[in-house]
Amino acid sequence: MTRLYNPLTAPDAPDADDQGPNSGGLLGEKDPAPVAVHGGADARSPFLLVSDHAGQAIPGDLADLGVTEADRRRHIGWDIGIDGVGRKLARILGSLLIEQVYSRLVIDCNRAPGHPTAIVSISDGTEVPANIGLSAADASLRTAEIFDPYHARIGVELDRRSAVGLETFLIALHSFTPKMGGVERPWQAGVLHNQDPRFGRIVLDALRADGLTVGDNEPYVLTDTSDYTVPVHGEKRGVPHIELEIRQDLIESEAGQGEWAERLARILPAARARYRALYGAHA
Ligand SMILES: [Zn+2]
Repeated sequence: MTRLYNPLTAPDAPDADDQGPNSGGLLGEKDPAPVAVHGGADARSPFLLVSDHAGQAIPGDLADLGVTEADRRRHIGWDIGIDGVGRKLARILGSLLIEQVYSRLVIDCNRAPGHPTAIVSISDGTEVPANIGLSAADASLRTAEIFDPYHARIGVELDRRSAVGLETFLIALHSFTPKMGGVERPWQAGVLHNQDPRFGRIVLDALRADGLTVGDNEPYVLTDTSDYTVPVHGEKRGVPHIELEIRQDLIESEAGQGEWAERLARILPAARARYRALYGAHA
């Protein structure tokens, strides 16, 4: 899926000394791969975890995007704390976790390519100079080398599971900033759902039964146009799913991440059992 520069096949291969090792592409030898896979010790685990906004990397060619380090580390750059929650949860459940490694300021992997907020020029008041007036060709490179391999990896995993008859519950993990536009958000977590809310409602009830204030399609509404991962990998395939949002101040610390991982490791299998009791096995 990646279109890394190949000097043997490129039509007008420039001299590597002039153009650098990744001329014609975006990611170079020193850049990390766009997809990180964790866990998966229990091949029969019914849960596939994905994190669209787990990473903070920026391709070397794009330097710092013109954004200060402090801003890149804010919620506009990534989903603070979700890497720790996801990896701990994957370990406890024995599930596979697929993470996007690059910052959402490079390309948002939960937006369809070409969506107005797929590559943002401004986010929560912070300009992203490198994204302003971005050419279609440069946008396509980000799609081809960062977005596509990530979603292809998720697709491969879902195909593999389906081929061997494994049931799958797709868990899209996110975190949200406690305060947006000057408004404090009251929810500790949010469950987002759209076309098929069945699994989402079960998880929502379970989190509320745990004594939490949980948003029902809050702080965001899941839609076909604003989101990509759940519509494509969950709804279109008929795979039960949730998009789960956890408030960032609760999972900034490792202790908080551990607490949430343990909570989800308890709630998700119970929710799956409830789903099967109500709707039957779907594999
Ligand atoms: Zn997110």
